[in-house]
Amino acid sequence: MRWRLLLCLAGIVSQVAQAQGVYAFEGTFVTPDRVVKGTMVVTGDTITCVGRCPVPAGATRIKVDDGFIYPGFIDPHQHMAFNISPLWKNTKTYAQRYAWQQDADYLAFLASNRKYIETGQGWCDAVRFAEIRQLVSGVTTIQGTGRNWPCAKGLVRNADGFHELPLPEDYVLPFIPDVRTFSLNIDWNVTHALAIHLGEGIDEYTRQELDVLEAKGLLREETLIIHGTAFRTPEFQRMAKAGAKLVWSPASNMALYGKSMEVEEAIRAGVDVSLGVDWSPSGSHDLLAELKVADAVNREKMHGIVKPNQWAAMITSRPARGLALSQYVGSLAAGMKADFTILRRRARNPHRSLLKNELPDVQMVWVGGQLLYGDQDIVESLKPGLCEALTVKGARKRLCAGAGEDSFVRLKARIGASYPSLIELY
Ligand SMILES: [Zn+2]
Repeated sequence: MRWRLLLCLAGIVSQVAQAQGVYAFEGTFVTPDRVVKGTMVVTGDTITCVGRCPVPAGATRIKVDDGFIYPGFIDPHQHMAFNISPLWKNTKTYAQRYAWQQDADYLAFLASNRKYIETGQGWCDAVRFAEIRQLVSGVTTIQGTGRNWPCAKGLVRNADGFHELPLPEDYVLPFIPDVRTFSLNIDWNVTHALAIHLGEGIDEYTRQELDVLEAKGLLREETLIIHGTAFRTPEFQRMAKAGAKLVWSPASNMALYGKSMEVEEAIRAGVDVSLGVDWSPSGSHDLLAELKVADAVNREKMHGIVKPNQWAAMITSRPARGLALSQYVGSLAAGMKADFTILRRRARNPHRSLLKNELPDVQMVWVGGQLLYGDQDIVESLKPGLCEALTVKGARKRLCAGAGEDSFVRLKARIGASYPSLIELY
C-alpha cells in the first residue's frame, strides 16, 4: 500500500513515500567544483543523477531550501583511537615530533589513553566514539583508524582499514613512524595510496625525511604526505614533480611547533593540498573548526592563497584524490557512493557559508545512502523512533548509530567508566 506524508519542517519540506532506498533531493549542490541547483537522485547506496534529473516514481522527495548539499567530508589525517582524549595542554613547542613523543609530560598524558585502548573492547569503543564525533561534524570518510579489528563496526568509512569498499586491505597504506625505519615492500598494484607522516617538525632532521622518502623510492604520485611543516619551496617542487600530495593540519602544527605548514609555497609549487584535523590532543575539535583555523592562517600569513571556493574541495575531492578514492567518494556525481552532508545556509554563497558553519548547522549526514545523523525533525520523519536523541550545543539532533550496546549513551558510559578523561562529543 502506498502512503504519502507531507511534512513542513524548519526550512525543509519532506514528502515521504513508501519506496525504500530511492530518494530525490531538491536544492543547491556543491559538487564541489560547481554549484548546481536541481535534483540529486539516490538509489540504494549510490548517487544516480545530479542536476536536471527525473524523479523516479515512488521516490522519497526531500527539499532542502535553507541549506547547501556538499559531498560527505573526508578527513585524511586522524588518529581515531586517541580521539577520546582532551586537548594536551603542552607548555612549550618542539623542533620535531620525536621530541614531544619523548616528553615526560606527554607520556604521562598519553598513559591513561594507551591503557584504555589497549585492553579488550577499548580500542573499538574509542574508535566508535571518534566516528560519532566525525558524523556530528559532517565527516563521512576518515583516514587514521588502523587495521581492521574484529570488534570494529564502521559508521563512517575508514579509508586505511575497513573502508567498506570493494578494495584490498592495503589499498590505502598508512605509515606513522620515522620514515628511516620504513622497510615494507609495497606492491603498487595493490596499494594506491601511501598516507605517510613526514617532515613533522621545523628542523633539518625532519626536513631530510623527504630525502629519505625519495631514496627509498617512495616519492610517488600515490604518496600522501601528512604534515610537511619542515618543507619549503624546493621540497614542495620535488613533491609536485612526483605528483605526491599533502595534508595540512594547521591547528595541530601551531600547537606543537609554533608554525603552520607553508601552504602558500606548497600551492605555488603546484602540490595538491587537503585539510585534516590530526587528533584531539593537539588538533581542532572537528573539521568545521579546522576550516576556520585554516582560513585565518590563510588570510593572515599565506596572502589568501586558498580562494574561498577551494575550501570545500580541500575537505572533499582533494582528500579523495590523495586517498585514491575519487571513483567512490569526494564529489556529487552519478555513480558515486551516496555520501553527502547538508549544512544550514549561513551566507548566500555556499563556499562562504561553509566557513561560518558550526556543529548545530549540520542538518543531515548520509553515508552510502543511509541517513546516520541529522536534525531531529527530518530524521524522525524519515526514520521514526529508530534513532537516538542528542542535543548538540542546544540543537536537537538524532543519531542513527544503533540501539542497546551500540547506542551512544551506553558507549559513553562504558568508556567513561574506564577512562574518566573522556572528551565531550561536541
Ligand atoms: Zn598525525
